[in-house]
Amino acid sequence: MYNAKAYSVASATSPFASTTIARREPTEHDVQIEILFCGICHSDLHQARNEWSGVMPTVYPCVPGHEIVGRVTKVGSAVTKFKPGDLAAVGCLVDSDGTCPECKAGFEQFCQNFTLTYNFPDKHTGGVTYGGYSESIVVKDHFVVKVPSNLDLAGAAPLLCAGITTYSPMRHWGVAKGKKVGIVGLGGLGHMGVKFAHAFGAHTVVFTTSPGKKDDALRLGADEVVISRNADEMAKHAGSFDFILDAVAADHDINAYINLLRRDGNLTMVGAPENPLAVGVFGLIMGRRSISGSPIGGLAETQEMLDFCGKHNITSDVEVIPIQKVNEAYERLLKSDVKYRFSIDMASLKSE
Ligand code: NAP
Ligand code: ZN
Repeated sequence: MYNAKAYSVASATSPFASTTIARREPTEHDVQIEILFCGICHSDLHQARNEWSGVMPTVYPCVPGHEIVGRVTKVGSAVTKFKPGDLAAVGCLVDSDGTCPECKAGFEQFCQNFTLTYNFPDKHTGGVTYGGYSESIVVKDHFVVKVPSNLDLAGAAPLLCAGITTYSPMRHWGVAKGKKVGIVGLGGLGHMGVKFAHAFGAHTVVFTTSPGKKDDALRLGADEVVISRNADEMAKHAGSFDFILDAVAADHDINAYINLLRRDGNLTMVGAPENPLAVGVFGLIMGRRSISGSPIGGLAETQEMLDFCGKHNITSDVEVIPIQKVNEAYERLLKSDVKYRFSIDMASLKSE
């Protein structure tokens, strides 16, 4: 074991503070990474504040962060994919059983025995896993992906969660040219959803509660922008969408969006608000519409997404912050005030 600098919260109501955590020395299949940038996902906030206590209670101290890019510093003897000095990235998963049908099919995100990057039992240390708000991390090679060298690293970090979480369901539901696609909520996930829907050739419509984001939505690739609190603007789109991706982090009325789907249209929830959402079943029955959910993506698809981003030069629009500003960044996330992802410059941790 060795010590690594990190930022943690001590309870659901504590601010982040500097700390030291224990990391394992790399074993034969491990990759040790010096973390250069880590994105701030709204899931980090949900978990730091124990908002998902019903499904995933937070164990404190908690070190969040699952949008990690960095440089390899050491590899285990059996690692062939990476060598010291390589760029490398880690997302939400750091382990799975590797033997179940889901793992064999490349769907590690559905493995019953996966290990998440933070706030999950850590079989190596006996404690919980610690995420990317840290100077380094040690991860099994299968869960480490390659970063295309042309991508800006601060903007590439959010691809590891916001990117794959929006890319995967859009691929699954066939988002392509000729389809009308809605993206609800222009935050970290939503803005990546817009970039991908646009890159896939779909007619892309952004639904936002923030009128001030309209110009940005168009710049990011939207064909139309709807202010979702305006009922007249919403009504114009009734029954017209093939697919809607809902990336809202708070309570909201999803029925308003279900009614915008055409026959057999689908609304996929990637946003994970704290409380259950009410669904009016008539909206589903009429039009044989469906709602579903989607978690992140598997490792092969995550690499595919990164390669797609490399080819199309897609990164997240980021506000780079030092780790010392993380508490402030969380307050801004709660006000939907992020353009469009915070990316922590981990060099700032050196001064702690
Ligand atoms: P974010 O950056 O905070 O963006 C959320 C956006 O939702 C806001 O920017 C805002 O967009 C909209 N919004 C906020 N409050 C709202 C309200 N009361 N009513 C309507 N819209 C509201 O968050 P994020 O990091 O993108 O994450 C979004 C959600 O996805 C979170 O719940 C997160 O936990 C979840 N998530 C899920 C997965 C998965 O695997 N499924 C992965 C990552 C994250 P406008 O200003 O445009 O309205
Ligand atoms: Zn995330």
